[in-house]
Amino acid sequence: MHDIGKQFENELDKHNWNKNYQQLIKTAFADPEVRALIAAHHDELTTADLKRSASKVYEFVTVKNQLKAGQTTLAPGYVPQLQVVDHSLEVSYVPGQQLQEQQKQAQLQQRMQLVNLPRALRRAQLANFEVAGRQAAAVAAVNFVKAYLDSPQTFHQGLYLSGSFGVGKTYLLAAIANSLAAEGYRSLLVHFPSFAVNLKNSIGTDRTRNLTEKLKNAPVLMIDDLGADQLSSWIRDDVLGIILQYRMQEQLVTFFSSNLSLKELQDGYLTINNRGEAEPLKAQRIMERIRYLAQEIRMVGRNRRNS
Ligand code: ADP
Ligand code: MG
Repeated sequence: MHDIGKQFENELDKHNWNKNYQQLIKTAFADPEVRALIAAHHDELTTADLKRSASKVYEFVTVKNQLKAGQTTLAPGYVPQLQVVDHSLEVSYVPGQQLQEQQKQAQLQQRMQLVNLPRALRRAQLANFEVAGRQAAAVAAVNFVKAYLDSPQTFHQGLYLSGSFGVGKTYLLAAIANSLAAEGYRSLLVHFPSFAVNLKNSIGTDRTRNLTEKLKNAPVLMIDDLGADQLSSWIRDDVLGIILQYRMQEQLVTFFSSNLSLKELQDGYLTINNRGEAEPLKAQRIMERIRYLAQEIRMVGRNRRNS
């Protein structure tokens, strides 16, 4: 096989190019990866082709060496690739392993939207969920994820996780959302009491409407900590009621977590409004929607906060 790289070197020597430049180009063409590529394509490349590609080869080797030396490059995170395209050598940039990982993480984050909830929930994993005392919840969570991934377009009943403070209700919701995100599905987790306060503080603004629309339309909605505040009739009927009604009609998956059992939710939180008035019929209407959308699972166990 005639060595076209060698031939190109001779060609370089013949020109009156600046000695320095010649040396740089020679070194670049001596790079083993470059040599291998040229050897593999020797029948497509003439010395003229190589000459035309000199700056590309130089760029490729320079960036490659910068990366090797841990220096920052013009396109951080991207790795250069040298290819033969139409009788020329061309450099293209592809995301490096670290960048790919970052991009994957960013996608996951986009798929799992947190509203007024701690970022640490992004790390919640079903695999790390300590099952002791919470078998029913763990099994229900795994079954849900399986069923959802099997047929994401059909309606699946979500879970209403009830149990005392710190048993891991929010953690489990986030772990389910992460499992869905890993497979490409979007969900929205909202801390309901904070959402209600935000709404009251921004009545009638675009932000209110946008947030409410988001809650109505999220493919999977997880309403966290329902029952932890005092409910106004407005939030109950015109916000929560409307959102749940819509989700029921549209057959959208909805989860809840609460310190209250369904019965406690109905008899207290939803019935007695923040002015102390009892509105059992209104409560019943909301309850019908919750019961349609989710199955109650009681969670017991120790308080894991600060342990
Ligand atoms: P709840 O929502 O029921 O009040 P959390 O989900 O906030 O409880 O859990 C309380 C704390 O315990 C959090 O710091 C959470 O990260 C941690 N935690 C809960 N469940 C688990 C678990 N199964 N494995 C590891 N940590 C957990
Ligand atoms: Mg919680």
